Amino acid sequence: MRAVIVEGILADVDGVRPGQVRIEDGRIAAVGAGLGTPTDVFGDDCLVFAGMGDIHIHAREDVTGRDAHKETFATAAAAALHGGVVHVADMPNNPAAPVDDATYAVKERLVAAAGVDVAFTLYAGIGPGTRPLSREVPYKAYMGPSVGDLFFRSAEELEATLAAYRGRSVSFHCEDPVLLEKHRDAPTHEERRPAECELNATDLALRLTEKYDLTTKLCHYSVGAGLAAIRAARARGLRVTAEVTPHHVFFDTAQITDANRPWMQMNPPLRSPADRAALLEALRDGTADYLATDHAPHTAAEKQRGASGQPHLDTYGPFVTWLLRDRGFTPERVAAICSANPGEFVNAFRTDRHGRLLPGYVGSLTVLNLRRPTAVRREELRSKCGWSPFEGFTFPGSVAAVFMRGRRVFGEPGA
Ligand SMILES: [Zn+2]
Repeated sequence: MRAVIVEGILADVDGVRPGQVRIEDGRIAAVGAGLGTPTDVFGDDCLVFAGMGDIHIHAREDVTGRDAHKETFATAAAAALHGGVVHVADMPNNPAAPVDDATYAVKERLVAAAGVDVAFTLYAGIGPGTRPLSREVPYKAYMGPSVGDLFFRSAEELEATLAAYRGRSVSFHCEDPVLLEKHRDAPTHEERRPAECELNATDLALRLTEKYDLTTKLCHYSVGAGLAAIRAARARGLRVTAEVTPHHVFFDTAQITDANRPWMQMNPPLRSPADRAALLEALRDGTADYLATDHAPHTAAEKQRGASGQPHLDTYGPFVTWLLRDRGFTPERVAAICSANPGEFVNAFRTDRHGRLLPGYVGSLTVLNLRRPTAVRREELRSKCGWSPFEGFTFPGSVAAVFMRGRRVFGEPGA
């Protein structure tokens, strides 16, 4: 296969510099200067990152087909590429949840049958009475109610199951089911799921991390007051990382109106302006590790009926340009939270390596143009759900190109 040489301003965790990336047989063969005549050149308005990864999405396809109206692996992959995302990790809360070797293999075969370019890593679910798979996979534990039976009613029930998962990689949805029950009659969605639910669940997740030697990821972290506990746990030597979503750093409760309320509903819910600022700072200062979207492709009709979650794959790259241009994030920090850290997370379970501009890594690249704005329009979205919380908003930059294992699959030549 012909070598591809991409030239531009290369952005990785260890610096930003003009250079070239040579990709052969789908992998990065060399990074440097003067590697040869470039096949693709990007100008000073662009940054070339290692392919970005979104390690928390809900594609919804499963063997029952019950959620296929929301999104399939094919439409999720199309939305991901549109947003500059080359690999995703898909959550297990399907009607037919992957919870053991057999059900996990069924979902893997469905992904393979979809024949998409985007690399999928699959989480296995942890629910009452489940046991670890026979090989290493990432696990997701829902503490509070979710789809199907993948949730626990008490801390005791969660711990009784988790004891079998000693030493594994577990991602926690931190909302305490007992406290959720206590607030169930409060007037708004946000008041029914207050910060104390997440704070309590965080303490439990960290205690279980220590007791069972888990490698823990806290999903869609949203409460500023919980960040100190994460920092303290790391200082004690616990292996704990945290995701932050676009919605928790872009929206807050002060922006909820009667008109937009259904669209602004998710779990955990939007928090206060102070929480929003704290989470943005956590992403910037390293307390939080991943920009992960919790992409939830519910249809407009489902949202009107009270479904929780927002779709974010289509707008991932444009959103990142907002962090870079309007919120003071350095390219190195973006390389960490969008490429290197998500790559490190999935690489533990894969044979290919994602996330760095280094020889041996997958030859997948995300090129952002920081000067060409993106006006988010419904008709341009690729997600099957067909709407975005950012419709009408203009991000300061755009996705210039996406390379998948050396093949340019998105973007115009010479963008
Ligand atoms: Zn989720």
